[in-house]
Amino acid sequence: MAKTIFKRIIDREIPAAIVYEDDEVLAFNDNNPQAPVHVLVIPKKELPSVADAGDDDTLLLGKLLMAVRNIARQQGLENGYRIVINTGPDGGQTVSHLHLHLLGKRPLHWPPG
Ligand code: 5GP
Repeated sequence: MAKTIFKRIIDREIPAAIVYEDDEVLAFNDNNPQAPVHVLVIPKKELPSVADAGDDDTLLLGKLLMAVRNIARQQGLENGYRIVINTGPDGGQTVSHLHLHLLGKRPLHWPPG
């Protein structure tokens, strides 16, 4: 199967503005930002979506959320932020590599579209 765009970013085949990296997690700015801060936080493991996560991914999913918390602090989002995980076609997921959107630095409304 062809690599997803995010796997190509992990493999440094295409550039991205990386804001955080460790052995399991990579975070970079979205190239079509929907807020002044819009960071994508992804596992380096090729996991298509939350729906594909197994019980053995429990720790990884926790690490992704903790990375979001740390990046939010780093980005000065003390006034709050939103974490979005689009999942599957009805969820609006367009890239089949699990990613958490971290959105902040503007008021975010509810419900979403
Ligand atoms: P989804 O709709 O799957 O939840 O979100 C995919 C996100 O990836 C979108 O917000 C889109 O702007 C972002 N995106 C797609 N291609 C690229 C890319 O090549 N580089 C970066 N930095 N973001 C991308």
